[in-house]
Amino acid sequence: MPELPEVESVKVNLEKRILDQTIEKVEVHHRGLRWPIPHNFETLLEGKKVKMLARRAKYLLLHFEQADFILLWHLGMSGRVQIVTPKELTPRQAHDHVEITFYSGLKLRFRDPRRFGAMLLVPLKELSCFSLLSSLGVEPLDNNFSGSFLLELFKNRSLTLKAALLNQKIISGLGNIYVCEALHCAKLSPLRLVKTINHLEADILVKAIQDVLRRAIIAGGSTLRDHRQPDGKKGTFQYTFKVYGREGEQCLQCHHVEIKRILQSNRSTFYCARCQK
Ligand SMILES: [Zn+2]
Repeated sequence: MPELPEVESVKVNLEKRILDQTIEKVEVHHRGLRWPIPHNFETLLEGKKVKMLARRAKYLLLHFEQADFILLWHLGMSGRVQIVTPKELTPRQAHDHVEITFYSGLKLRFRDPRRFGAMLLVPLKELSCFSLLSSLGVEPLDNNFSGSFLLELFKNRSLTLKAALLNQKIISGLGNIYVCEALHCAKLSPLRLVKTINHLEADILVKAIQDVLRRAIIAGGSTLRDHRQPDGKKGTFQYTFKVYGREGEQCLQCHHVEIKRILQSNRSTFYCARCQK
């Protein structure tokens, strides 16, 4: 499932290709995504010029010139964005549910085999209170995200660090991979209760989360299965994982013990029991 770095790298790639481009034609081949694609989707988007791309958690937000709505886009579990020039155009695949053609000839395709993705049009005036976005926690790369901010969020909670960092209402955009990597980088145990974290540890954790995310974005995210850049390239951050998927291999930090895998809320946690306290 794409996490924050994968979505951010898709956003950065899309910006380079479709910013200032005007939509000529929208074709919806399957409306039944996680939520149905609205019936006025095509007519509202055709003729609109892409003015800005943004990301909130794992959502992409496309803003248009002279439009009172945005396109809110979630890639779901396995969604892939493809941008092709007329020369590169191949026949549409079974799971290419939406195709957007620009006047320049560029075509954007959204392929989503499992159909957990979403494409919704949200009126600008409803954006700040739109339920999918308003319940999201802090953006980990925001300037206001700090150790003391994190301690406030952790206050009086009886959660483990792993569960708290995965909770999208506390911090948004982090998934299993980057939580495991950030906790190893911060040398904090995924089993620690958040109320035992002190100021220094919170500062170190925030730095570790941001460092892991920034490095992953530069690498184009992690490609374990489906993730691709809009130009078809894979992300490469998986080659630098320190703990994720490394069960039984030596810890690259202490070089003493093997990486452990345990289950927390039915999801694998990878960590070093010696480094991470
Ligand atoms: Zn270690």
